[in-house]
Amino acid sequence: MTSILNADLHCHSVVSDGTLTPEELAARAAANGVELWSLTDHDEIGGQHRAAAAAKANGMRYLTGTEISVTFADETVHIVGLGFDPDDAAMKQGLYDTRGGRGRRAEEMSEGLAKVGIKGAYEGALRFVGNPELISRTHFARFLVEGGHCRDTNEVFRKYLTEGKPGYVPHRWASLKDAISWIQDAGGLAVIAHPGRYKFTANEEYALFLEFKAHGGRAIEVVTGSHSPPEYQEYAEKALEFGFAASRGSDFHSPDESHCDLGKLPWLPGNLQPVWELLENRVR
Ligand code: AMP
Ligand code: MN
Ligand code: MN
Ligand code: MN
Repeated sequence: MTSILNADLHCHSVVSDGTLTPEELAARAAANGVELWSLTDHDEIGGQHRAAAAAKANGMRYLTGTEISVTFADETVHIVGLGFDPDDAAMKQGLYDTRGGRGRRAEEMSEGLAKVGIKGAYEGALRFVGNPELISRTHFARFLVEGGHCRDTNEVFRKYLTEGKPGYVPHRWASLKDAISWIQDAGGLAVIAHPGRYKFTANEEYALFLEFKAHGGRAIEVVTGSHSPPEYQEYAEKALEFGFAASRGSDFHSPDESHCDLGKLPWLPGNLQPVWELLENRVR
């Protein structure tokens, strides 16, 4: 496998905060030319068997996937896991525990929104939820757009759901060490998702990369729907500097919300090691 491969190793279904089923995503990915696919729902691997079967039915190769919420230096960081055993008991338990605080957090978010006049946000968000264990800020954002409070989900995040805003509730997720261990102990490989998205200083980012590497982390996302073209370049250089392989994924959530469609990304730069070269024996 080379860097010229239409791999899309990051997207979301109704099992987390996407709007399409694993089967609908597989059909869309295949129609867009994806050759190697992974469904990476937040803190959840309940869609993996369906996604693998749908990939096969659509002629694509498949890597198991998830995107784990982690707290590092008081910030939320996302760690993608690829190529693990989807039936691994310790990983399933770790993800179950990570999902655990979401219900209480959602109730507190709803209380914060009620204080600025938005009533019934918890019940409203629940109507958009596909998996009762996985209520996320995205579901609140859809409810606020539906109610005419904002034009799109981006505006909701800006005005209501990010730090300092009325619907924001700080939350402690998994530790970096635990998330990497769950992935690796289940036979998979850990990837830092969209490193350009975090509000870290240069020193904090450096600490994240070093700690991630010390725990056995092997790759970072370089070409992702969550990066700008200058960030492709920036993180390509950092991948080389730190000796990380590189991943590529749209982070697609919904035809109505995502600006980057499945498989519609530039190629990985040819001088990087594609993460799928480290996962050849995990591809289904
Ligand atoms: P949560 O895991 O509940 O904190 O929700 C995080 C999710 O919110 C991310 O995975 C994105 O899907 C979504 N999200 C975060 N920031 C934004 C933003 N600025 N615009 C739109 N969606 C966002
Ligand atoms: Mn999401
Ligand atoms: Mn993410
Ligand atoms: Mn994502």
